Amino acid sequence: MLKVSFARAFRDNYIWLIHAPADSRKVVAVDPGDAKPLEKKLADSSLELVAIFATHHHLDHVGGIAALCAAREIPVFGPATETVPSCTHPVGQGDDIELAELGLAFRVLDIPAHTAGHIAFTGHGAVFCGDTLFSAGCGRLFEGTAAQMVTSLSLLAELDEATQVYCGHEYTADNLRFALHVDPQNQDAVEYQAQCRAMMTERQCTLPSTIALEKRVNPFLRCDSPAVRAALERHTGKSGFGTIEAFAELRAWKDTF
Ligand SMILES: [Zn+2]
Repeated sequence: MLKVSFARAFRDNYIWLIHAPADSRKVVAVDPGDAKPLEKKLADSSLELVAIFATHHHLDHVGGIAALCAAREIPVFGPATETVPSCTHPVGQGDDIELAELGLAFRVLDIPAHTAGHIAFTGHGAVFCGDTLFSAGCGRLFEGTAAQMVTSLSLLAELDEATQVYCGHEYTADNLRFALHVDPQNQDAVEYQAQCRAMMTERQCTLPSTIALEKRVNPFLRCDSPAVRAALERHTGKSGFGTIEAFAELRAWKDTF
């Protein structure tokens, strides 16, 4: 299994560090929004930064890249249709990233909606999905439509159920409050909330999640479930939603929760 560690940035961002199977002191950083905590982590743990993956252009995900690259000559892989500082390898849907000397291989998925060109990196039984899929939640629709987000989330949900899900933020506990407001009888979500609350009191990281767990607890992957439909009907006073409409109503509900 892939070894992944992290540095925290800002209030709740994660900078994921993918350790190279060929040499675990070499790491690929995902979404380094701030160079400082990452440089500290690299120094404290004697790690060498050898590449950067960026999922989307938001500053809290790419703000550290220029500083990190000023001191090193390393490849930066980012979405082809967005502006990422120091990007050397613009990538999009279906592109394969082979870092053979590190023993790493990832495939790129286009998952737009949070931003117009948002991408994910998947490989080695893991997915790094930025601000599109969160544990028990999903990203806000800043540059895309509900229809795009439904497609993007479906693409992620089609990954192997054991896939480990590395999201861009520690939002799990907050998301579960909303998930259980919508779907209070969901026993998987009840148990997951208890587990996450215990972890949060010790400021532990609740991630990675898995695709299997998200399918059980994430209301945004369960828009068509009877429980979520019933809650949406009660909340909106409307019925007969299609999937996209149901998703849009659920996202709007969460935005004001
Ligand atoms: Zn973002």
